[in-house]
Amino acid sequence: LLAPDGSVASTIFAEMSALATRTGAINLGQGFPDVDGPEHIKEAAVAAIRAGDNQYPPGAGRRELCLAVAQHQDRHYGLSVDPETEVLVTAGATEALAATLLALAGPGDEVVTLEPYYDAYAALVALSGATHRTVPLRPTPTGFRVDPVDVRAAVGPRTRVILVNSPHNPTGTVLSRDELSVLAAAAQEHDALVVTDEVYEHLTYDGAEHVPMATLPGMAERTLTISSAGKSLSFTGWKVGWLHGPAELVVAVRTVKQYLTYVTAAPFQPAVAVALADEDGRTGEYFTDLAGSLARRRDLLCAGLEAAGLAPVTPRGTYFVVADGAALGYDDGVELCRELPDLAGVVAIPVSAFCAPAGQGAGALRSYVRFTFVKSEDVLTEAAGRLARLR
Ligand code: PMP
Ligand code: GLN
Repeated sequence: LLAPDGSVASTIFAEMSALATRTGAINLGQGFPDVDGPEHIKEAAVAAIRAGDNQYPPGAGRRELCLAVAQHQDRHYGLSVDPETEVLVTAGATEALAATLLALAGPGDEVVTLEPYYDAYAALVALSGATHRTVPLRPTPTGFRVDPVDVRAAVGPRTRVILVNSPHNPTGTVLSRDELSVLAAAAQEHDALVVTDEVYEHLTYDGAEHVPMATLPGMAERTLTISSAGKSLSFTGWKVGWLHGPAELVVAVRTVKQYLTYVTAAPFQPAVAVALADEDGRTGEYFTDLAGSLARRRDLLCAGLEAAGLAPVTPRGTYFVVADGAALGYDDGVELCRELPDLAGVVAIPVSAFCAPAGQGAGALRSYVRFTFVKSEDVLTEAAGRLARLR
């Protein structure tokens, strides 16, 4: 967790957001929306505060939120979840990931993730004491793909957890049922657990279907599913997340959570419960509208990147797109991101920040950079205009 010079490393998101503030560049680095989620859900949180919902809630989470998580999983995926024993509310997906890895993996174990991976994964595996192994998501003409040969090479008898993320940050890949099945088969063969980070579950485009790992045959019994109100509901600052899975695994994770945050912020829980229970259908509409509007914004940014001479890989999920700087003569994404505010008044994140030190970030993905498109069309149009200066 230390930088090469021994100082405490800050996350790439903090570094690049500071660069955006310092230079006045448009921040397409850190992924957070510039418009909040539904107004009536905000009102529900305000009402909860006014009603006195301000003291420690139950450790597993407020009952109505656990119930709403179960209802959401049933409504969208046909998954049957017991709200009493199989759900845990967490301080964002980040705490769910942290508590899960600390509960399930330790020295001598291996945790396998895709690479590139969300940056917290490597840090959390390191905190757990386990060894991190990776399956490269390889760039192909049709997008990033999982090669079964790579899965067989990475997963073995020491694998304790396969940590999957689909839709995938940073590439925007939505793993196909076949790709998920390869990972599932490897977990079954080596009796590993699967932890699946599905925070972008509702952000898919062009008819891409999000397939939860727990819906694959034989997988519910070995899978912990993680999601969060941050991405689906555009409340990244509320830090309300959840996980569900077999009761004995949830108990283990809850035990660790007890000593991380003890409980999750009280008044946001009934508000997120209203959203996930969706009694009036407004949340379903919100998910559909958000995905439709993000698909348009994706197209806007991709066209801008294309026109600038950067080669975008069109994502089918998330609110990120990666583009290859080599198309413009930039072999090093880190260098390109450091210069981008001066060259074009835009901030992006090098894909190598999501890679292992000797992994694809030093190889096939060295020249790739990530942009977010969860910004207003005006901001993206302005950014696209500025990027044209790169030509
Ligand atoms: N997983 C992935 C893949 C993410 O992109 C993010 C958001 N940065 C998180 C987890 C963290 O989610 P939360 O803010 O709910 O902790
Ligand atoms: N998930 C967001 C991203 O990948 C924000 C991450 C963060 O700030 N830690 O950009």
